[in-house]
Amino acid sequence: MKNPIFEYTVKNANQDTSKLYEILSKERKMTSNLSSNETFQQESTKACSCPVCGSSQSAPQVETAINDAADYITGDKFQVLQCSNCSLAWTAPQPTNLDRYYPAKYRRYNALILGILKTLYRIRARGWSSRFTQPGSALEIGCGDGFMLDALRSLGWSVSGTERTADMAKFASEHFGLKVYADDQEKLPSDAKFDMIVMFQVLEHLTDPLEQIKKCASLLKPGGRVIIGVPNFSSWQSKYARASWFHLDVPRHLFHHSPRSMAHLAQAANMRIDRIGFFSPEHDPFGWVQSILNKELGNQNRLTKFLMKMVKPEGRDLLTLVIAAALSPFCAIASLVSWSAKKGAIMQVELVPVKN
Ligand SMILES: [Zn+2]
Repeated sequence: MKNPIFEYTVKNANQDTSKLYEILSKERKMTSNLSSNETFQQESTKACSCPVCGSSQSAPQVETAINDAADYITGDKFQVLQCSNCSLAWTAPQPTNLDRYYPAKYRRYNALILGILKTLYRIRARGWSSRFTQPGSALEIGCGDGFMLDALRSLGWSVSGTERTADMAKFASEHFGLKVYADDQEKLPSDAKFDMIVMFQVLEHLTDPLEQIKKCASLLKPGGRVIIGVPNFSSWQSKYARASWFHLDVPRHLFHHSPRSMAHLAQAANMRIDRIGFFSPEHDPFGWVQSILNKELGNQNRLTKFLMKMVKPEGRDLLTLVIAAALSPFCAIASLVSWSAKKGAIMQVELVPVKN
């Protein structure tokens, strides 16, 4: 499941697409009618020990990293707890039903932005593909609408995906002709193995990241690798903005990873980090702009909500746009510098099995 903020669709390219997003919006609206109390009654109570290394608050190796992070949709407040042993952080409490925390409206990109995103996907796909002597088989977990798989396929890879949202899986199958397993309907064949497994902006949404990495390891062919794109909790952007950080995105992001926590996570799954990179032009500069606005002006993610048409435009939104435009060049530079310092807001981690 991808964060809907970053999901997009082809404007006017396929009428079915609009229908699909309409259905999804209605579903979200229905579930968002749950009262705050109802959801909080469903909270998980197991948030007090580290799910990777087992450190607990009583140890005391689990500390409060952030105390007052507010969800930008509901205003509900969350803490972020962090294990001082392996540095994995997680949202607390973790609601077991997240439906009310997903925005009812989806961003629809215009043709220009869509073109830019597709180019970036191709650049990423080419980079990953270059680790192999020839194209093989790739699986994307949480493939959304299938654009990344389409990019890999154009390089000669044989591709398939899994997607939790049945309607999204249907879109990827029908629009791109991709093989997509909708989690609740069809399971991967028991003997399925892949050269490359991709999880892009997915791991932070999952309730059990370690179990997921172990599952990926078991699905790899010899010489295979797992590629993970995830926000970096130890990035400069995160350290600067803390509770106001755009990519913190509580409670949709259940876990908050860093290069150190990923190394521990990999080790616990008998894998290791082979490569790590921070190039993320579609997420990082905008993350700086929105995080600075959040921290300095308050009103969490107002610019994003305005751009996504989640709110009625007001006079101050024009001023925010002007400030955002003025900040943009500095934020682009901050991103570039943070990538070379390995402190970027989004990291791409490539895991390979540890040879016994
Ligand atoms: Zn830990």
